[in-house]
Amino acid sequence: MRTSPVWHPFTQHALEGPMKRIVSTEGAYLIDEDGARILDAISSWWVITHGHRHPAIMEAIRHASETYDQIIFAEFTHAPAEELAGGLIGIAPPRLKHVFYSDSGSTAVEVALKMALGFFHNIGTPRSRICVLEHGYHGDTIGTMSAGERGVFNAAYEPLLFAVDRLPFPEAGREQETLDTFEVFCASGQVAALLVEPLVLGAGGMKIYPPAVLAELKRIAERHGSLVIADEVMTGWGRTGSLFACEQAGIAPDILCTSKGLTGGALPLAATLCSAEIFNAHLSTDRRKTFFHSSSYTANPIACAAALANLEIWKTEPVGARVEALAAKQEIHLRRFEGDPRFCSIRQAGTIAALDLAVPVGGYLSDVGPRLRAFFRERRLLIRPLGNVIYMMPPYCVTEADLDRAYGAIDEAASAFAAGRL
Ligand SMILES: *Cc1c(COP(=O)(O)O)cnc(C)c1O
Repeated sequence: MRTSPVWHPFTQHALEGPMKRIVSTEGAYLIDEDGARILDAISSWWVITHGHRHPAIMEAIRHASETYDQIIFAEFTHAPAEELAGGLIGIAPPRLKHVFYSDSGSTAVEVALKMALGFFHNIGTPRSRICVLEHGYHGDTIGTMSAGERGVFNAAYEPLLFAVDRLPFPEAGREQETLDTFEVFCASGQVAALLVEPLVLGAGGMKIYPPAVLAELKRIAERHGSLVIADEVMTGWGRTGSLFACEQAGIAPDILCTSKGLTGGALPLAATLCSAEIFNAHLSTDRRKTFFHSSSYTANPIACAAALANLEIWKTEPVGARVEALAAKQEIHLRRFEGDPRFCSIRQAGTIAALDLAVPVGGYLSDVGPRLRAFFRERRLLIRPLGNVIYMMPPYCVTEADLDRAYGAIDEAASAFAAGRL
């Protein structure tokens, strides 16, 4: 009998048992009510970068909460938001000169779409088409769902979703198709922006494509006066090996969305960075050109302080070296499965590793996903496959022993599956 009134996200309560309570977190672990230490191999849905409760971030939160709570962010500003904006501009790709705060990845992307359309509207050459990559994911609001891949997740809302122009995913050897399709859409002169997850399409199945494709997409966009919005909500903060994934393509997008790892994962916060051109198009004595957007919790000072502590950690701790070491370790573990018929499409981008369990029918609703998840949970591992796509996205503090245990369980799960025992 279920007694809790809580409705959990992406959860079919008719098929799930009662939820285990987590009583504390520490480093790469969630500690449950029975005292079990569960390895958080997916960084609590991709947000935790350095590890749970990094002391410097928790201290910054404690300290900021002695002075601040939420402060209205129109008419007023505050030090944490000002310093953070300066810090972000200092480390983000060049051309990004302004910072708009919100509170989640979805809102950061909504803001980006509104900035793009607002830009063209305000300069007097309205454009309204948005190009996206097939299999993309940008959030769960109506706008971001519209831009994301359509499927069972959003079938019920389809009548409300707006149309976007979809480019085929740049599969190896077929990259030119993606580029040619984009070129054709752009030639209409109606494309306001390309909205794209750089290098890794996360929720769409950890699909990885090369930096050169992203660089070429940017060149095409530039040629046609279309903007590029980099959705770095997942890929930011070291996940793909560099601070931002865009760096690997050598591009500076017109708009960049960041959230998940912005506070090291400790508190909800998001930022949409944009170029001076976009800001300036909204700068006018004509009030109609104002950027009409706000979230109640815009630039929450305590969350900004947590993000500032995150920036400081990147400066003072060898995070880059940790990311590199984790990427190297993941590679060694993945290599073990190369040529193994139980798996296909073994792939990696920096700290993110993914492999598909060879199954006759894939897709999210094939119940291999939940069965794998249960298998891992029994072994005190939080690994949530996307259908048959098993992936590892651990916090950077994860140890060699933790990884050994996780990959050992992946190996075991694949054998159990092949033997029909899963
Ligand atoms: C998670 C994610 C989002 C949405 O972020 P929320 O904070 O869950 O709203 C948007 N884009 C990408 C690429 C993501 O991975």
